[in-house]
Amino acid sequence: MRPAELDPLFVPITSYSGIGPKIADLIARALDRESGDDTRAVDLILLPPHRLIDRRHRPGVAFAQESEIVTLSLHIDRHMPPPPGRRNVPYRVLAHDETGEIALTFFNARSNWLEKQLPLGEKVLVSGRMEWFNGRASMVHPDRMAREGSDDPFPVIEPVYPLTAGLSPRILQKAIDAALEALPVLPEWQSKPLIDKNGFPSFGDSVARLHAPRDHSDMDPNAPARRRLAYDELLAGQLSLALVRQRIRALTGKPVRGDGRLREQLMAALPFHLTTGQIQAVDDILADMNSEERMLRLLQGDVGSGKTIVALIALVACVEAGGQGVLMAPTEVLANQHFATIMRLLENSGIRCAFLTGRTKGRERADVLEKIENGQAGIIIGTHALFQENVNYYNLLLAVVDEQHRFGVHQRLRLTAKGAAPHMLVMTATPIPRTLVLSAFGDMDVSRLSEKPAGRKPIATATMSIDRLPEILDRLRNAIDAGRKIYWICPLVEESDLVELMSAEKRFEWLKEHFGTVTGLIHGRMKADEKDTAMQDFKSGKTRLLVATTVIEVGVDVPDASIMVIEHAERFGLAQLHQLRGRVGRGDEASSCILLYKGPLGATAKARLSIMRQTEDGFRVAEEDLRLRGEGELLGTRQSGMPGFRLASLDVHADLLETARNDARHIVHEDPSLSSERGAALRMLLHIWRKDEAVRLLRAG
Ligand code: ADP
Ligand code: MG
Repeated sequence: MRPAELDPLFVPITSYSGIGPKIADLIARALDRESGDDTRAVDLILLPPHRLIDRRHRPGVAFAQESEIVTLSLHIDRHMPPPPGRRNVPYRVLAHDETGEIALTFFNARSNWLEKQLPLGEKVLVSGRMEWFNGRASMVHPDRMAREGSDDPFPVIEPVYPLTAGLSPRILQKAIDAALEALPVLPEWQSKPLIDKNGFPSFGDSVARLHAPRDHSDMDPNAPARRRLAYDELLAGQLSLALVRQRIRALTGKPVRGDGRLREQLMAALPFHLTTGQIQAVDDILADMNSEERMLRLLQGDVGSGKTIVALIALVACVEAGGQGVLMAPTEVLANQHFATIMRLLENSGIRCAFLTGRTKGRERADVLEKIENGQAGIIIGTHALFQENVNYYNLLLAVVDEQHRFGVHQRLRLTAKGAAPHMLVMTATPIPRTLVLSAFGDMDVSRLSEKPAGRKPIATATMSIDRLPEILDRLRNAIDAGRKIYWICPLVEESDLVELMSAEKRFEWLKEHFGTVTGLIHGRMKADEKDTAMQDFKSGKTRLLVATTVIEVGVDVPDASIMVIEHAERFGLAQLHQLRGRVGRGDEASSCILLYKGPLGATAKARLSIMRQTEDGFRVAEEDLRLRGEGELLGTRQSGMPGFRLASLDVHADLLETARNDARHIVHEDPSLSSERGAALRMLLHIWRKDEAVRLLRAG
């Protein structure tokens, strides 16, 4: 339960005047929330302005520069409404100050409103963007107008918030003001020594300053108010991770001790030798699982580095020990693929596998559930459905979560709140630097697969302007004739009026005209069975050119696909490009990747694409990406579904992250149920940063 003091912060934003469901959805988008329904006052309060408009500059008409934001103290000389019936002629108001004359220009203005705002013969303060044309000064639709000396002049420093199309800044500002108005005084959750050491203002003062910056120095991420809120955010994250971890550790695990017989069989059946990285990772995992303390390990390895086999060995070890293991994938497509791969590898092993997703229905479902419950199924593969209420395990020893590059840790770790207390292995393909591992996963043991399996040929990567499309088509024609398989990646599914990107569907139609029936299509809006069919056709070779959106990003394995074309490569994050590129170069054929861009490219875009040409090392790509764009993009892009930070920035606040981690550990150690006075305040912190999941774990424990 949320403490009642926080209620004013959790009113739905639709309760504010002027905000209906539609506008709420727009605001939700600006805030990166799922929907308007689940957007609350607190989310507005924690939305930092990204820049400010400074209206303090008052040079006088004659000295105001083109395009500058200026504030002018004007004497109103004359109103010039358009002639009747000529609506496209603007309404002009002539005015002057001691330095010169200016025309204030309005389109479609109501004259009685203007007469009130800019009364003839009076002095008025006007602020907006200056324009010069043929030596004449003008201002089109001034942003602000107020009678000189009025009690309610406009603010001279204005925060500007990130907006989404269709959302008016005034409406957003009004909602933020209303939310701030409702902010109660809250108890301090940070420790006194830390506050003193850093000179942190209180939460209330920090939030107030966040939205009412006094000048540019308040916009600095290291300004006291922003730094305080950044620390709050980091601590909330680290604390919730620490609580999850505590919960996982609290339930003792069952040691997994098998005789190695099944593992040996599996190894003998493998068509390759494990890499040293894989051997090391397997050793780490088996050692962890051999203990009563539950394993909580992250297996980090680039796409194609061979994480699946490592997981499978661990799963087989559980079966040997008389128990079960599950492998949970983020999507149906990927779950299916894991199932197919594993079934093949376990042929003749006597180990029984089961498959369970949301689509498993009726008798089949009942049958699978029974086998899970009576232990007939040793290895179970599927999606989230694996951890729904009615799934009961006979003896679950290990849960492997294939995150690929999505950081759903919080949700996924929920599974540990179930009675079973399996060892946990989380696999991720995002080669993230250490600080980011820490911020996204908290304290976890890490195994890394840094080398690619032997025999892989490098992927030749080229960048090309979309203008060279005809040439590319010729190359693809040759490749298809030579029996090769090609991915063609498009960034969007449908035509969107917001972003003019070539849609996958349109591109598919177009390519089909050139290449005919060997052309296939897969995208996120397709039904699951349509996706399966599309993947199967591509695997079997019925189609050879697969037009895809980023749905294929997540772990799809078609080893003989050897060419990838990525359209609008300049719009993808580097991490994402890297993931995508990892779909080729998986077999023993030499592979290539063509990054198509639409010029002209900015310097950063150029630098980013050139990194892709230079290296295939995921860690290097990630580090360069971090350097060029900041972690926000790396972790925070909506498309890739990774939670970013509002105020904390891992470049700027790296020192705070370490502190937050230690602080969180200390808190959980001293007050594991957050029941002290500070503990109660910390619960509020968790709610404010929307980490209620962690609070719920407290209750359960
Ligand atoms: P990812 O880490 O992306 O999940 P996979 O586990 O899907 O990678 O492995 C990619 C491919 O590499 C698979 O076809 C797998 O059979 C193969 N593979 C895994 N380990 C080795 C190895 N040691 N030697 C050769 N091929 C391997
Ligand atoms: Mg994989």
